Amino acid sequence: MTRRHPDHLPSRPTWRCSTCGIAWPCSPAKLRLLVEYRKDRTALLIYLATLETEAAEHLAKLGGSPPKNLAERFILWARAR
Ligand SMILES: [Zn+2]
Repeated sequence: MTRRHPDHLPSRPTWRCSTCGIAWPCSPAKLRLLVEYRKDRTALLIYLATLETEAAEHLAKLGGSPPKNLAERFILWARAR
């Protein structure tokens, strides 16, 4: 079996999904992260916060002003409900 697509990883510095091209994290990426970190939600939130910081820097360099909804996009979806 060939792996045609990478696992919905973020492209840097645009932070779009390398597989579907939408703003990362896309739904498949979120699902994968939730499975990977199912036993440690805190570690997931720390990981996402790190990525958000990195994305904010990259996007600021690209576009001038960083998007305001980054925290929501990167972190809020992963909070326990
Ligand atoms: Zn994707």
